[in-house]
Amino acid sequence: MPSVFIKTYGCQMNERDSEAVAAQLVSKGYTLAPSEQVADVVLLNTCSVRDLAEQKAMGKMSALIGQGKKDRPGQLFGFLGCMAQSRGQELIDRLPDVDLVLGTQKFHRAAEYLGDLLAGRRESVVDVAEEEASEARIREHVFPGNGAKAVTAFVSIMQGCNQYCTFCIVPYTRGQERSRSIADIVAECRELGGRGVKEVTLLGQIVTSYCKRNLPVKDGKSPFVQLLEAVQDVEGLERIRFTSPHPKGYGEDLVEAYGRLPKLVESAHLPVQSGSDRILKAMHRGYTHAHFLGLVERLRQVQPRIGLSTDFIVGFPGETEEDFEETLALCREAQFDQAFIFKYSPRKDTPAAAMPRQVPTPVKEERHRRLLEVINDLAARNSAGYVGQRVQILVEGPSKKNPARMSGRTRSNKIVVFDGSARHGGRLLDVKIIRAGPFTLYGDAAILEGE
Ligand code: SF4
Repeated sequence: MPSVFIKTYGCQMNERDSEAVAAQLVSKGYTLAPSEQVADVVLLNTCSVRDLAEQKAMGKMSALIGQGKKDRPGQLFGFLGCMAQSRGQELIDRLPDVDLVLGTQKFHRAAEYLGDLLAGRRESVVDVAEEEASEARIREHVFPGNGAKAVTAFVSIMQGCNQYCTFCIVPYTRGQERSRSIADIVAECRELGGRGVKEVTLLGQIVTSYCKRNLPVKDGKSPFVQLLEAVQDVEGLERIRFTSPHPKGYGEDLVEAYGRLPKLVESAHLPVQSGSDRILKAMHRGYTHAHFLGLVERLRQVQPRIGLSTDFIVGFPGETEEDFEETLALCREAQFDQAFIFKYSPRKDTPAAAMPRQVPTPVKEERHRRLLEVINDLAARNSAGYVGQRVQILVEGPSKKNPARMSGRTRSNKIVVFDGSARHGGRLLDVKIIRAGPFTLYGDAAILEGE
């Protein structure tokens, strides 16, 4: 059977979609190739959120095709995901050697189309149509072989977004919000728990809108909180995370869930994007600087040690120095543990791309640098506060930077590296933090030896 290599760009949702495609192909007899050079089929799962991500995927595909022609004639190439959805046939017009273009509602059709292409029944396939119930098809997982156990897993709970933030291409590439049923998600979580998975991350473009139109609020609880309660009851699972919520969808019921559901970890990713009310309005975000800080305060009242991360966009059209200073102020006031900062990138057909007063690149770069300094400083101070404390970690496996050591995560989403061994994998352990870098903590091995 053929072998496949999938390279993924972009967010965790894309990671999850790629995993589901890989699982689908493995169930049809494909093997997973260790690199693109030795694969019979190479798929790029693409991201459209920034222009740079699209350019990277185009450049990569063009290089792969050039190499493949020399080394592996007959190799098949495909684009999946957001860029495939937004550009469709244009991708084959630009790179005629591409065989497959598969949109965001068509991941489950990868095996069928590749079968046709490999058998020579079709020369190329472009399918970016909408498909009802496709959100329920991102379900299968790839589990490690050799008796190793998966410790964490992503679970896709919904697709699409109806918020239409003026900078964002997602509503156009992922379509309207479509949610899986609670029963279906819980069944997947049970299966994962049964296979030894200890932590699930519930995924969607805007999880706080989960099932908003299909399920009524019950006893003051939104459908998303009802889902969290149902996953809380899944045996074997020890921790629940989710991403990405929308700050305006963070109701009291969700804030209060952090104090009530023991498996819901003390960690929240709250994408704020800007600290300026004027810019937040132009972005169509639906909240203000004050509202956002109120949410941070309420979360800290319920869970004082909660780890908070966020996303910022600098250089949105019309952003002045005063607007940017509001962002710096919000960042300091919220005391984030971590932030992902993006320079505004105009996206095709989004309202912000046509807005006047686009910010010059050097200004975006300068603001990016200044905001990063504030974030790095906050992160370092926050991490230093862990030194001397005993924290619970879930051991995920060998450290990526130094595989001789083990790595785990606190409930607040801090990485902890320690001198452990494979026998600690998948376990919940208490460790004492002895040293801290801005984004990594170092645990005390002596405590592990004693346990
Ligand atoms: S809520 Fe998120 S995914 Fe939806 S449009 Fe806004 S930024 Fe994009």
